[in-house]
Amino acid sequence: METDLFIGGKWVPAESRFDVLDPATGDVIASVADGTVAHALAAVDAAAGAARDWAAKPPRARSEILRSAYTLMVERAEELAKLISLENGKALVDARGEVAYAAEFFRWYAEEAVRAAGSITTAPSGANRIVVVRQPVGVCVLVTPWNFPAAMATRKIGPALAAGCTVVLKPASDTPLTALALAVLLAEAGVPDGVVNVLPSRSSGQVVSAMLHDSRVRKVSFTGSTEVGRILLAQAADNVVNTSMELGGNAPFLVFADADLDAAVDGAMIAKMRNGGEACTAANRFYVEAPIAGDFAARLTARMAGLRLGPGADESTQVGPLVNEDTVAKVDSLVRQALDDGATATTGGTRPAGPGFYYPPTVLTAVSPGSAILREEIFGPVAPIVTFDSESEAVGLANDTEYGLVAYVYTGDLARGLRVSEALEAGMVGLNRGLVSDPAAPFGGVKQSGIGREGGHEGMLDYLESKYIATNW
Ligand code: NAP
Repeated sequence: METDLFIGGKWVPAESRFDVLDPATGDVIASVADGTVAHALAAVDAAAGAARDWAAKPPRARSEILRSAYTLMVERAEELAKLISLENGKALVDARGEVAYAAEFFRWYAEEAVRAAGSITTAPSGANRIVVVRQPVGVCVLVTPWNFPAAMATRKIGPALAAGCTVVLKPASDTPLTALALAVLLAEAGVPDGVVNVLPSRSSGQVVSAMLHDSRVRKVSFTGSTEVGRILLAQAADNVVNTSMELGGNAPFLVFADADLDAAVDGAMIAKMRNGGEACTAANRFYVEAPIAGDFAARLTARMAGLRLGPGADESTQVGPLVNEDTVAKVDSLVRQALDDGATATTGGTRPAGPGFYYPPTVLTAVSPGSAILREEIFGPVAPIVTFDSESEAVGLANDTEYGLVAYVYTGDLARGLRVSEALEAGMVGLNRGLVSDPAAPFGGVKQSGIGREGGHEGMLDYLESKYIATNW
């Protein structure tokens, strides 16, 4: 497969290369060209050079290219799933789910490309008309994480291309291969040279900073940690670059005593274990009303203990390894601290010996309210459980975080469900559902979980400027 940089429709080698590892073994699976600042500026050149023609292309033509990309992605679903599993480690079942989800962003934005409507109104004074047209923002820098190497890229490329923008994608260094495979696919779908450029690089800080300080770049869309998001927001301020930030989460999962417990445990398994726990939407803290807490913990423990841990590529695997050594060490350290603070592991809780970056599905009960595991994003297969006694206490605990991406609520009382959903400080709520991600819905966070929305119609508006023309006729 292609392992060079994709700039201006050509595969460009680099002087140095970096290794991509198989998380199941720690072995090297590929070596990828390491983009430099000079390459980054060449990619901006290519994107800027292609911008005018792409923006002028009829929306229907852009739509049809995106639709071809969707079709190709569906045709290559198995191949792409294997690649994702190989470089990210996730179980094939999760990788297949990701490809299907990722492809839907191309289909959804193929449909949205022809709906970038403006408006005409009469000024309140009656003196003139207010005409609003939508225009592409321009050249966009897209920076993506390793946990969904395909979906986080298509969730940005789809709306950007639909809106008429050109892009430079900087994928995570742990998972550049999927992004390069997407570059091949988009070129085959008919995306003109320079419209999508893909720049793997180990010098992420330098190359992204160089691009954000190039005055031709008009937007940065970032998905990743809140820590790096803060750095990019500060850099974007220098040239007043548009920003979309999809950052970290610390999702609370609330279960009230009146909930359907079977449904709550099913939802908890999805919210916690989709992608092996490596999701920004992962349930990070379980708050369960006291009368049912024991029953909930026992059922969740049985389900978690029954999951098969193994190499992602093995068809029988339900939970693959985590992406790298740092991630597994962080998860292990959070669990050790929680146990030291008095928690009990009802399953898991010990890192297995042997090669690969494995961590077992783990449930912790009697977690101390001060434990770091309740404040930090775990990003692994660990479910800490805390009990509560009242609705107001549950909402208070859920909101006691600087994050606000998603929250989950299980209750049999619809009025309570909607009341609590409104009170939760989160950009998204799963009400009696453990999965919120949907290409047709606006995905995003409040507080330090982000700025802007991806998906839905709003996702394309993030790549469009409104131009107001004051006129008389
Ligand atoms: P990360 O360390 O913030 O990295 C994300 C991306 O930023 C990678 O491409 C990385 O490149 C790059 N990067 C790192 N330092 C940079 C810098 N100084 N300047 C510019 N770019 C830089 O996050 P991650 O560990 O890959 O992903 C996990 C995080 O993503 C979690 O916090 C998770 O919650 C969040 N996430 C959020 C969403 C959402 O929609 N809200 C979705 C998925 C994930 P390198 O790989 O080369 O370091």
